[in-house]
Amino acid sequence: MSQKDSTSSNANRFLSVSEVQKRIISDIKAIDGTEQVAIREALGRILAQDIVATFDTPPCDNSGMDGYAFSSKELTSDLSEESTLTLKIAGQSFAGHPYNGEIAAGEAIRIMTGAQVPDGVDTVVMQEHTEKSGDTPEAASVTITTIPKAFANVRKAGDDLKTGQTFLSEGKKLSPTDLAFLATQGIAEVRVSRKLRVAFFSTGDELRSIGETLGEGDIYDSNRYSLYGMLQNLDVEMIDMGVIPDDRQAIEEAFKTAADIADAVVTSGGVSVGEADFVKETLEKLGQINFWKISMKPGKPLAFGTLGNSLFFGLPGNPVSVIATFYQFVQPALKRMKGQNIFLPLVVKAKTTELLKKRPGRTDFQRGILEQSDSGELTVRNAGIQASHVLTAMSQANCFIVIPAQSGSIEIGEMVDVQPFEGLLS
Ligand code: AMP
Ligand code: MG
Repeated sequence: MSQKDSTSSNANRFLSVSEVQKRIISDIKAIDGTEQVAIREALGRILAQDIVATFDTPPCDNSGMDGYAFSSKELTSDLSEESTLTLKIAGQSFAGHPYNGEIAAGEAIRIMTGAQVPDGVDTVVMQEHTEKSGDTPEAASVTITTIPKAFANVRKAGDDLKTGQTFLSEGKKLSPTDLAFLATQGIAEVRVSRKLRVAFFSTGDELRSIGETLGEGDIYDSNRYSLYGMLQNLDVEMIDMGVIPDDRQAIEEAFKTAADIADAVVTSGGVSVGEADFVKETLEKLGQINFWKISMKPGKPLAFGTLGNSLFFGLPGNPVSVIATFYQFVQPALKRMKGQNIFLPLVVKAKTTELLKKRPGRTDFQRGILEQSDSGELTVRNAGIQASHVLTAMSQANCFIVIPAQSGSIEIGEMVDVQPFEGLLS
């Protein structure tokens, strides 16, 4: 875990986004605890073991086409492209019903897609390139009108997986394809990391919960809902602790309870300069917490450290700041805790179609709309008013436009870094 920043110069220094990401991530280990679940239950979970193939997939050579299987030895050098080749039909191999007889020279068997290619044949000609004659099984023959290449249309045993091969690795988030992949090996259950328990609450005397009446100067607590959504996307067990007033005892109790029950605690509000000092005092009393000023917009204040046995993230109160800091710091950290091996946000380049206003100083996470032109080029534009209390642009946005700290405004046509929101890709 990060040691508390001790020097006062550190306390006043602005840290870069990547510096904070590094400090947070470098100390985080995957939580202990795994569970064995049926593969359907494992969808979206993080694999806690390597999975090794115990037999070849496909298990036997099989046909990639409906047609006729024969030996490549029939493809003698005197056959030209215009030639035809007539073979006697010795029998048939259907999916689930293999052919068990002999196949002599000059013979072929009728074969269907996925059916076993028996010993003695190694090439399949598709049905569309043949003509069948003779009605009785004894008299039936097939004429190949377009001669295939030797070994054509045969899917070899072990094409996909070889016995002993690790085909899914610890730390992989299991996709629908992975469930199919496990099923091809007849695997019914896998070991995944246990669900992370995350407690969260909002702080502020002005905050009311939905259903309550707003008094003068009050607002509804919205951060608990964005946090709920972002945590839900991470498939964690959530403990919603509600709104905690700016009251020393209430805050201390909430922090203690949260730390007792959760692997991670996420709060919003109460960490900016000018907030009641007792939040800081309480946190310092209960844990090892750093209070950072981050050179980012929106965002800036962030408290991070340990509270008892759990990790603590104190996010700023402004609704857009909560979302921006969650995506940059909390999400990668929680993914790491879950044991996931890919955790940082994806960044792509896009061309701006509008002037993006910015002053040099802090890294901007502007709310943007990422689009694709007819030619496939990614373009991005401003999603609306860029203020940390304005949810309108955040709601319109499908990405953050990341503009480096030193940079000024970005002219039309320049390339910028863009972080697509996860939903856009899934
Ligand atoms: P703070 O970080 O507590 O100083 O809050 C900064 C701004 O965010 C203030 O305008 C607060 O009213 C607002 N804010 C704090 N928490 C919430 C919340 N849970 N929902 C909506 N707005 C909030
Ligand atoms: Mg507050």
